[in-house]
Amino acid sequence: MVVGNLRTARVIVDEQAIYDNIDAEVKRLDKGTELFAVVKADAYGHGMVPVARVAKAAGASGFCVALLDEALGLRQAKFTEPILVLGITDPECSALAASGHISLTVGSKAWLVQAKAVMTKEVQLRPLAVHLAIDSGMGRIGFTEISEFLKAVHFMQENPDYFEFEGVFTHFATADEADNTYFDKQVTKFNAYVDALADRPRYVHVSNSATSLWHAACNGNLVRFGVALYGLNPSGRGIEDLPYPLKPALSIETELTFCKKIHAGDSVSYGATYTAEQDEFIGTIPIGYADGWLRRLQGFHVLIDGQFCEMVGRVCMDQFMVRLPQAYPTGTKVTLVGQNQDQTISLQDVADYSNTIHYELACILTPRLPRVYRPLTK
Ligand SMILES: *Cc1c(COP(=O)(O)O)cnc(C)c1O
Repeated sequence: MVVGNLRTARVIVDEQAIYDNIDAEVKRLDKGTELFAVVKADAYGHGMVPVARVAKAAGASGFCVALLDEALGLRQAKFTEPILVLGITDPECSALAASGHISLTVGSKAWLVQAKAVMTKEVQLRPLAVHLAIDSGMGRIGFTEISEFLKAVHFMQENPDYFEFEGVFTHFATADEADNTYFDKQVTKFNAYVDALADRPRYVHVSNSATSLWHAACNGNLVRFGVALYGLNPSGRGIEDLPYPLKPALSIETELTFCKKIHAGDSVSYGATYTAEQDEFIGTIPIGYADGWLRRLQGFHVLIDGQFCEMVGRVCMDQFMVRLPQAYPTGTKVTLVGQNQDQTISLQDVADYSNTIHYELACILTPRLPRVYRPLTK
């Protein structure tokens, strides 16, 4: 994928914001509880390797990713910290993961049996570190029966050359909601699995960002800290009450590439869906849906010279247009997300308008938009 390094549009990532979010969280954790920074999906669009560097400096002792490829990317970038792959990996890749000291998530005994068959072919075998996933109510991956779970544990214990039982965990479906009924049911279910163990593994973990922020009592000894490290409230606008302020790290900025006056009756963009009712100034902005700036954002706004300017006409693949309060020279700064003079557009504002969540918007910013890093200031 070509990165548009020469274009005037960019995603700006504020490293100090990431540092401060993690630092504040690490300081709240009980002694002995670790924080792994979740940097899957290119660190929620913020850039995996730069974010991992800042996270480590701020006190993250390991990383979580979704794919083995992402874990290998961190190893290639010379990170030596523990890495846990949260998704299910092909058992064919078990030896590769083990050789890279990468921990894998396992949700069935059958997976272990398959992986053992693969690993038997290895000459220099290293045991694979395994975290067993418990499906306590998320309904995604993991054990749903304690008896099956214990069979998997015993299988690992019988095969110490192949497996190290390193962790047990679950994931909550409603930790970001004010009502705790479903959450509490999941806690009870998960605890039954842990209680059935003769010996606890090194890591017992349940907390994503929302759980750690609002249910810290059940953190276990590891927090999988994701969206909040990017300064985004896991609940969107659901729970405003936070133990410390979250500082959003991501901005999207560009410059006006064109400005013109149009007259009453003139239309703008594909389908001519917008027609001016009077003479007005139209500015053109060099970002489009191919960058992840959604087509359904038509009618939303950007910030120019501290003022909200409406996006008029359809969003194109690489450009869109706004109505300006006056003529502005090309090169004038345009803020799609972030602060511009006294005004701010948050990723949550964009999510509200486009009927999605900020997680999704951050992830779908394509690699064509270059990521630029504002370095640590402290
Ligand atoms: C993505 C993910 C996380 C991180 O969740 P956030 O809400 O971003 O903190 C934690 N655990 C699992 C299993 C995940 O898939």
